[in-house]
Amino acid sequence: MMNFTYKPLPWNITFAPGAVSNIRGMVEGLGFSKALILSTSGQSQNAQIVASHLGELIVGHFDQAKMHVPIETVKEASNLAKRLGADCTVSIGGGSTTGLGKALALRKNLPNIAIPTTYAGSEMTNIWGITEKGKKVTGRDDIVVPNLVIYDPELTLSLPPSVVGPSGLNALAQAVVNVATDAPNTMVSLMALEAIKDIAENLPAIISEPENLDARSKVLYGSSMAGASLGTGTTSLHHKLCHTFGGAFKTPHAETHAILLPHSVAYNAKATADGSQAVADAMGVTDAAIGIRDLALKVGAPTALKDIGISEQDIGKAVEIVLGMDFHNPEPITETRLRHMMENAYHGREPTIDQA
Ligand code: NAD
Repeated sequence: MMNFTYKPLPWNITFAPGAVSNIRGMVEGLGFSKALILSTSGQSQNAQIVASHLGELIVGHFDQAKMHVPIETVKEASNLAKRLGADCTVSIGGGSTTGLGKALALRKNLPNIAIPTTYAGSEMTNIWGITEKGKKVTGRDDIVVPNLVIYDPELTLSLPPSVVGPSGLNALAQAVVNVATDAPNTMVSLMALEAIKDIAENLPAIISEPENLDARSKVLYGSSMAGASLGTGTTSLHHKLCHTFGGAFKTPHAETHAILLPHSVAYNAKATADGSQAVADAMGVTDAAIGIRDLALKVGAPTALKDIGISEQDIGKAVEIVLGMDFHNPEPITETRLRHMMENAYHGREPTIDQA
């Protein structure tokens, strides 16, 4: 019998190639007139495009957004916003920039318009994260959901293959954990399966034909649906593993997801048999874990922890950290199985299940 609860987040989305050219009317429509643009230093060019369309609605540009939202950056941006009298922020870029916009919404109540240009999906979640004294604190609060998300696939044409592959796998992870689960939610699954299908079908096409706007558009849409499923769904072992490697060993975010996803899916395969099969069906493969690894190889994403700065000794530390965490997971968390999984991920081997 069907049994579920579902509360969507306060999403407000515009999706179209060239959508950013209409940003001025959209910002005015929300009642804002003093926008502070946020970006990383590397994304100044896209920020200039947005600025040219916003015209005199801009009061400034903060181009120092950084990965994992350091508190110092939040303070700097928030001082600038105050000094300039900004009534909203417009964040253009990947999850790092979206994260800064969210932090300013959380800390300073500053409304945010997000223009995502990677597949991180953060703009669709109510999850915020701020790094203080070397530790990333995260939480959920609906105030960080952007007042408007503008998806313009044309702005992703410059995203290089080295970012497309891992970022696409990062999005895939958000959807997969909400289908290959022991507690599926029918509404969340709808979006997650849509995301899995679109990403698996179109990610390789972006790598082989970088100018393929249709493929870029579909993966951007898939990442939005993946973010929406993470925003209203759950996480389990996979996200704990990524948090462990990212937090303790500073591994790059999207690459860490790309490497670990096949292994965390294999770990939970038995307890999530129906969900794992649904993931495989959506991807058009026979086994979800193997299919995800094959996709990673096809799009040139890394598949081994040893290739992103992890040493063999780190595996022992990571196992210890995960064993010390308290979280729900479909399969029991045991030291032997964790070690087996992480060693496979370390060497970049095919995912297998150690039943010990
Ligand atoms: P990122 O924002 O650092 O972007 C990755 C790279 O892509 C950067 O080098 C950036 O300059 C480049 N880039 C972005 N747009 C580009 C474009 N159009 N053309 C060329 N290059 C471009 O990283 P990310 O992977 O997008 O996001 C990771 C961060 O997001 C992490 O801090 C992670 O914790 C956070 N995140 C948060 C959530 C959430 O729900 N809160 C979800 C996913 C990720």
